[in-house]
Amino acid sequence: MSIISKDIQKAVVLLNNEELVAIPTETVYGLAGNIFSEKAIKRIFETKKRPFFNPLIVHIATIAALQDIVAEVPEKAKLLAETFWPGAMTLVLKKHKNIPDLITAGKDTVAVRIPNHTTTLQLLTQLRFPLAAPSANPFNNISPTKPEHVAHYFKDDIKMVLDGGACKNGIESTIIGFENGEPIIYRLGALALEDIEAVVGKVTVKNKKEQNPDAPGMLQKHYSPLTKTILTSTVLNDIQLYANKKIGVLTLSSSYKNKGIKSEIVLSKNNDLQEAASKLYDALHQLDHQKLDIIIVEKMPDVGLGKSMNDRLERAAFQE
Ligand code: AMP
Ligand code: MG
Repeated sequence: MSIISKDIQKAVVLLNNEELVAIPTETVYGLAGNIFSEKAIKRIFETKKRPFFNPLIVHIATIAALQDIVAEVPEKAKLLAETFWPGAMTLVLKKHKNIPDLITAGKDTVAVRIPNHTTTLQLLTQLRFPLAAPSANPFNNISPTKPEHVAHYFKDDIKMVLDGGACKNGIESTIIGFENGEPIIYRLGALALEDIEAVVGKVTVKNKKEQNPDAPGMLQKHYSPLTKTILTSTVLNDIQLYANKKIGVLTLSSSYKNKGIKSEIVLSKNNDLQEAASKLYDALHQLDHQKLDIIIVEKMPDVGLGKSMNDRLERAAFQE
């Protein structure tokens, strides 16, 4: 029997019993557990094979619930929360003393957000505790944007994927920390930098591990298909370079169908970056399952969500 189900009550019972449930959000599917259950939280790390140094994001349903999660909220954090929540923005703030160290990897800050997904908001309002929910994929793999992706990864390890359809945004939340009350972007993501700057003015981006040792988990290799993947602005050159291989191509809007490639996915014929972002991981999942020798990915335009997609694609293509 499939573990995919729309039954919110069933999810409530499982979570109350310290079990894990994969939950839908507008970004990607999360592997969720009660933040106060040591058993559930340890299982999240075990199931994902995620190292304990990599902290989890806490999910809540209302801004009022923030007072039990964080110790203080800088003015600009308040403004961002009021503007973008529920939404694809995670705030890293000084933690409330009750937040377990397992959640924060021992740090004195905690990452928190209100997801913009009706099913999960309904679920959260029926629970007496917030949910910790990292992306529902094995460590370093591509994040899941459909219930089937999660079932493919974890059908033997978890009891339920709460079905909320395909994720609308399709890439992870934008993570914002604060230094002296000023916002710093720790991870580019589904909320575009330009939208954030329209509200709080210019913000610094410390999206790379070497720029910010305070944001663990920002690994150079991440979100990776098992198939060798390269990111390039000159797709045709690379197709020629790998001419004797089984090539899959992933582009924003161009087509290379008649260039001797095995398969191709075009993300948005109209060059719509929102549409492209929402389809990106599903496209990588599909290409990764086609037994190709190489996936050639076209670099996205370096604006708005294109910047966030390029960040993920650079990590997907990173060679050790
Ligand atoms: P995931 O939920 O898998 O998308 O990953 C959550 C990411 O949030 C982690 O990998 C960290 O980069 C970031 N994060 C979570 N908590 C903190 C924190 N307290 N300080 C800085 N970054 C954090
Ligand atoms: Mg993740």
